[in-house]
Amino acid sequence: MSNNKTKVLIVEDEKPIRNFISTILTTNGYKALTAKNGEEAFTMINSHMPEVILLDLGLPDIDGIRVIEQVRERSSIPIIVISARTFEREKVEALDIGADDYITKPFGSSELMARIRTALRHSHKILTKDLGGRTVFSTNNLKIDFESRRVTVEGREVHLTQIEYRLLAILAKYVGRVLTYDFIIQNIWGTTSDRNSQQLLRVNMANIRRKIEKNPGSPKYLLTEIGVGYRLADLDE
Ligand code: CA
Repeated sequence: MSNNKTKVLIVEDEKPIRNFISTILTTNGYKALTAKNGEEAFTMINSHMPEVILLDLGLPDIDGIRVIEQVRERSSIPIIVISARTFEREKVEALDIGADDYITKPFGSSELMARIRTALRHSHKILTKDLGGRTVFSTNNLKIDFESRRVTVEGREVHLTQIEYRLLAILAKYVGRVLTYDFIIQNIWGTTSDRNSQQLLRVNMANIRRKIEKNPGSPKYLLTEIGVGYRLADLDE
């Protein structure tokens, strides 16, 4: 039975945090593996093949960013960065280099579990490369039909411009994950991110919110990750 448990590797040099996360994981039915530096992390990854990696970027022997790079050379295993609140630049760099998500210290067990579940779901999606056979996206009364390009909220049809639709579609494709400004801009406009494109992105996001959110000032679906990007909330039905 224990062989069927999902293996999560915690890479964190601070013992209290490592133990805290390890306890949460074990309590929730995961198999917790631990590493206190980059070198141990590589050993654990090679010998145990974990299904998710929780990675602190501030490690004593190697920069966590380099750990992401090296893992990504070989595998698409989900990586969730454990980050300090103020390090937006670091979060963006980690995401752009291939981390799947981040969680900001201090965090609670339910938040951590939600992040891990999302990361595991996405690892399947990444394997199938695309939306696969699934042509309809649905989360808590927000529905997107990818064939007819029809978007509805609580059964009411929402009319989006082509750009707005493409923005919502890419966020839906990576539902639950934060997408950086650079990633979104590159994918929608094919240009690198600058002041103008970021402004254009903000305007479009505000328009989408006006159309899909009941209260655009306090959005339920389309969330802003300050200094990093946007996330479409992964809400249960
Ligand atoms: Ca650290």
